[in-house]
Amino acid sequence: MCTELNRDLASMGRPMPLDFELIKGMKFVDPHIHMVSRTTDDYQALFDAGVLLLIEPAFWVGQPRTGIDTFKDYYSSLIGWERFRASQFGIRHFCTIGLNSREANNEALAEQVMELLPHFIYKEGVLGIGEIGFDDQTPAEEKFYRAQLELAKEASVPVQVHTPHRDKTRGTTRSMDIAIEHGLDPQTVIIDHNSEETVKEVLDRGFYAGFTIYPFTKMGNERMVEIVKQYGSERIMVNSAADWGISDPLAVPKTAALMVQHGISKEDIEKVTYQNALDAFQVSKHLDLNSLDRTFIADPNEKFEGNTILRGGQQPRLNKDSIIIS
Ligand SMILES: [Zn+2]
Repeated sequence: MCTELNRDLASMGRPMPLDFELIKGMKFVDPHIHMVSRTTDDYQALFDAGVLLLIEPAFWVGQPRTGIDTFKDYYSSLIGWERFRASQFGIRHFCTIGLNSREANNEALAEQVMELLPHFIYKEGVLGIGEIGFDDQTPAEEKFYRAQLELAKEASVPVQVHTPHRDKTRGTTRSMDIAIEHGLDPQTVIIDHNSEETVKEVLDRGFYAGFTIYPFTKMGNERMVEIVKQYGSERIMVNSAADWGISDPLAVPKTAALMVQHGISKEDIEKVTYQNALDAFQVSKHLDLNSLDRTFIADPNEKFEGNTILRGGQQPRLNKDSIIIS
């Protein structure tokens, strides 16, 4: 019975496959994606679709952490193993490090995380503080949001701000008010998960506006096309926020393809799916952008602290079209 129901649901949508011809030769950045939750298939698909660089914010892992050591290991994996894993698929991996808003509510643990953060935010591969901000908009969330803004100011790094699902407009306004109160330059703050209701204020106040194309909950990419038609491409960026939930790591290239179909100019598409993210996160300080092309493939013999993703002579690519697995 359950299987029948699922089949019925699956047949409801009209599939419209990604036409790779539309985005041929284009390159993309996904400035918000949680690769620790994703598979090697996703890395391969991202590379094939033209995603050359991604930024992985530290976030909530789906259940509460029970101690500081799991934060330490998680941050270490973002700058270590995950970065290495991405490189094996030809993708440059950067991250932002921070205490997520949900876990700010465990104040005793959050205090310990605050002590840990300065040990990570200056490491190679870290572009800023994120994702931080409000979830339920509690006093504890505000306290640790403020503390992390201070840290970002001290380190002169960008901030990636998660805005709440509930009471989004108020939460977004508050997030910006507080950032300004702490003296941050709006050009160094990326306000994420925007909607039609929040975008105008975010852009008017000089912040970067991130849009998460996430099935059923945040934004659909048809709505994204309309937003770019209405607001243009300045300081707007598209991301997938793909994680352990029902999400789509190809949201950025798919949205670019949809924009091509809707007649948005190549310049505007390039800004919202590539260039603005590089500018906002000041990636160029950490990377020679002239070298940013698809020729980046790490040596498959390379190891990370003695470990490799390749077991017993494997190659990093699979031929997914073949039924033969050899
Ligand atoms: Zn996220």
